[in-house]
Amino acid sequence: MTTPPSARPVLIVGSREDAHVSEVARRVEQEGVETLVVDTLTFPEETRLALTDDLGGITLDGRRLERPGAIYLRSYHSHPLAFGVDASEAMDDDWRTTLVAFREKMTLLRGLVGRWEAMGVPLYNPLSVDWRTPKPVQLSLLANAGLPVPETLWTNDPEAVRRFAAGRRVAYKPVEGGAATRELGPEDLTDARLAALEAAPVTFQELMPGEDVRVYVLDGEIVASLRILSKALDFRQNEERIETFELPPEVARQCLRATEVVGLRWTGMDLKRDVRGTLRFLELNASPMFLGFDARAGTDLLGRLARALAKAARS
Ligand code: ADP
Ligand code: MG
Ligand code: MG
Repeated sequence: MTTPPSARPVLIVGSREDAHVSEVARRVEQEGVETLVVDTLTFPEETRLALTDDLGGITLDGRRLERPGAIYLRSYHSHPLAFGVDASEAMDDDWRTTLVAFREKMTLLRGLVGRWEAMGVPLYNPLSVDWRTPKPVQLSLLANAGLPVPETLWTNDPEAVRRFAAGRRVAYKPVEGGAATRELGPEDLTDARLAALEAAPVTFQELMPGEDVRVYVLDGEIVASLRILSKALDFRQNEERIETFELPPEVARQCLRATEVVGLRWTGMDLKRDVRGTLRFLELNASPMFLGFDARAGTDLLGRLARALAKAARS
């Protein structure tokens, strides 16, 4: 489709192999706006980037980019552990050089995205909010703003864990995410088991037995609210049914406020009901997946996001 002269291209940072990248590109093009992918999975093997010291001096695959219209930041593929990256052979071969190469790549990509932020290009999401997204700061900012979060402890201190767990049900999970949430049992409170905290800190959280809720916010508006009906503790292990539902006005206000506190333009947040039925924030994701929810719940998050990007690119 041809790009009206008023629209600058939408840039998508991520891998062409990621359906969220290819689908957003396709859908934005349907809106009549050109898209370009900064393929961060094939950079630096294939994707060619050249940055001069001039703020706008950015060339992607031989094309000089003027100010882009908007940026969809899906993923940097910045680490051997990042989803979609397969660096195991390179790591086995020479882990140090491989890690240095990833660090070099990431520093350049952050520099690139930072320039777009400096130019005032709308970023979904801004680089400048990165420091507020790790859960140990994010949840404390939400709590500080008076929003409901579960009682949580991030620690490597066995005694702190024992104090936290005394007399109640506790869930534990990684600080970063990416592994299943489990219930802490008496066998986890032994010296031997807690010695594992010397290897890495862990998240301990008041166990919330109630319903899982996912809410998407885009440009200050709730664009979908869904509930996941499942029997498993971690809904990803055992999805049963996903349906859209109307948030109580008070919860809707809290979701918008939480998005504002973290500073996100686009987010999919997880909430869960505690023993008393109160919905508490588990996290706000800065690059949430949404195609699975569209497929299962009949929402059109793809269309909403694509239209927002196209609109930002036109203005
Ligand atoms: P991630 O970043 O891995 O998605 P979440 O904090 O969203 O981490 O947790 C993943 C899932 O695990 C949640 O959606 C929920 O189903 C379950 N879960 C997480 N924390 C708790 C908790 N405190 N009590 C009960 N279930 C939880
Ligand atoms: Mg989650
Ligand atoms: Mg997460």
